[in-house]
Amino acid sequence: MSDARALWDAAAEGMAPEARQALQLKGVQTLLAWVKSRSPMQRERLAQVDPSAVRTLADFAALVPLSTKDDLRAAMDRVGSALPHLCVPREDIVLSGPSAGTSGRQTYQAFDAQDLDRNIELTARLFWCSGLRPGDVLQLLVTPFTPAADIFRLGAQRVGVKWIIRDNHEPTQVPRYVEVARSLEPSFLQAGVATLRAMAQQAAATPEGGPLPYQRAILMGAALGPEAREQFRQTLGVEVTTLSGQGSDFNLFGTECEAHDGEHWHGEDMTLVEVIDPATGAPAREGEVGEMVITDFYRRATPHLRWRTEDMVRVHPGVCRCGRTSRRFTLLDRLANRVPVRGTAVYPFQVETALSRSEDGRNLEFSLLRKTVEPQVLEVRLLRPAALAADAAAAVARRLQQHLDAELDLPTQVCFHDDLPRVGYKTLRVIDETRA
Ligand SMILES: [Zn+2]
Repeated sequence: MSDARALWDAAAEGMAPEARQALQLKGVQTLLAWVKSRSPMQRERLAQVDPSAVRTLADFAALVPLSTKDDLRAAMDRVGSALPHLCVPREDIVLSGPSAGTSGRQTYQAFDAQDLDRNIELTARLFWCSGLRPGDVLQLLVTPFTPAADIFRLGAQRVGVKWIIRDNHEPTQVPRYVEVARSLEPSFLQAGVATLRAMAQQAAATPEGGPLPYQRAILMGAALGPEAREQFRQTLGVEVTTLSGQGSDFNLFGTECEAHDGEHWHGEDMTLVEVIDPATGAPAREGEVGEMVITDFYRRATPHLRWRTEDMVRVHPGVCRCGRTSRRFTLLDRLANRVPVRGTAVYPFQVETALSRSEDGRNLEFSLLRKTVEPQVLEVRLLRPAALAADAAAAVARRLQQHLDAELDLPTQVCFHDDLPRVGYKTLRVIDETRA
């Protein structure tokens, strides 16, 4: 294995788009026949679909219905099983676990040995793209009970990393993460954006312990603008790239390459991703924001067919200079994070982007308040950093309010809070008034 190779799998990652589309067509045709004959959930849903009628990817989109997490939950009841989408014998399962989802009833996914091997391979591409190399020591802070936690570890091992320091990611454990990092000096961090921000504050508050040791980090949970990335470089000396995607149902992710022009979807030869208008289900127009829909045709145990992720993405145009031919996405928001204001709607990603364009607002954690009656003013709650004195906060909030009014073209009301609600390692971006 050479550290000098540019891509983990040049043949797959640099594949011509036409060759990839041919693979995708063959993949979805095979998958359709597979699930129709094996999946208790799909047998009924696809009763009217003739696999031989799918001759193009457009046919596939036209003939196969979209599916949702609620469809899976309904099938769990109907079939009387936690795995109504299981297409292999139970004894073939090598990994299974709950989704990390925090809302609604728990769902599950499973992998057979081939599924797992391929998913690890995709994860190796992802890590290589983010700059992880065999000599690195990885500190891995992820939800420990999901299949993703296993697969991240196995993917890093496939890249050649030997030493992996594992932990959960809980806001209350930040002092331990910092202590472990200072003691064992990992070179590479994988964690939530909010976790690294909290670790940086913890390290600054206890300077006698020394700086954080990382050279690189993969951050999850938010898109970072170039200014926020530059701030991590200048204040912590850490080169950061972002990771986002579908941990709970798919274990499929995108990561940025060194060009930082969207996150490469590393599994284009093993999955089909569509971007649709969430209101109509039709393909989103070129360059428009839409909902990501995934068919993971490489899977055998619990594959998904045109699964609505409820994630809004933007597709980046053009070809990336890194040599990867995969499409690049920026995950903008959950559909559920839409906050109606003054006859329009704001998503948290717009506020994150606007904040990152201001010196005071960069890398601040925030929540938006969603009111039961649509308001005329958007309420933005900012988490007061320890370095910002309480008596100075009001003036900064006023400046940021002016900045956001102009950037969002909406009246806002901005104030600092000493605490904001969290879900796992993420700050809750939208607080419903009923629970505020
Ligand atoms: Zn690239």
